[in-house]
Amino acid sequence: MDADVQWHHLAVELARMAGVAERLLAVHADDGSGRCVVCSSGRQAGHYVWPCQLHLLATRAIEVRDGRAATRG
Ligand SMILES: [Zn+2]
Repeated sequence: MDADVQWHHLAVELARMAGVAERLLAVHADDGSGRCVVCSSGRQAGHYVWPCQLHLLATRAIEVRDGRAATRG
């Protein structure tokens, strides 16, 4: 299983969890300087540009739920 397929499966699982993707999108927001509010704090400070991986994953999950993402894998 390649990383892209694993990524998609993760998005599918997230899509099944009511409200989780929406919460991730709300929390993993741009801090106003092009970085994620959550991911750019702590030890990883400065390493995460927004949209971060979790924001992208949540976006993908919502696309999956809405039937907008191609299903494969
Ligand atoms: Zn983030």
